[in-house]
Amino acid sequence: MPDCIFCRIAAGEIPATVVRRSGDAMAFRDLDPRAPTHVLVIPTAHVAAVRDATGSDGESLLGRLLQFAAEVATDLGLDAGGYRLVTNTGPDAGQSVAHLHLHLLGGRRMSWPPG
Ligand code: AMP
Repeated sequence: MPDCIFCRIAAGEIPATVVRRSGDAMAFRDLDPRAPTHVLVIPTAHVAAVRDATGSDGESLLGRLLQFAAEVATDLGLDAGGYRLVTNTGPDAGQSVAHLHLHLLGGRRMSWPPG
């Protein structure tokens, strides 16, 4: 997906502050952080949103992404205080980049429900 900003970050064509990479995922700092720690976890191959990760390949990808995000949280020292993982899907949720991503947010107390 040449016009996808997160595909371009995954390909190294757009700079990002990369926190960790795995075989098929990467984590980088959000440009507009909403918490002291705000990292985006993406699959390096294009998947538009969580609803598009279908079938057995999608099932294993989502499992790996969640596990990878938990490892990143540990690396960043978030286990003691805890953290939030969010994936926005579609306009009602406010998804602005059509490439599946998990927001990993931590470092402050959060409210519920989200706005
Ligand atoms: P969402 O609104 O859930 O689709 O989240 C997209 C996120 O991507 C937002 O939090 C943006 O701040 C973030 N973002 C957009 N462009 C970049 C970029 N080039 N590098 C890092 N984060 C970005």
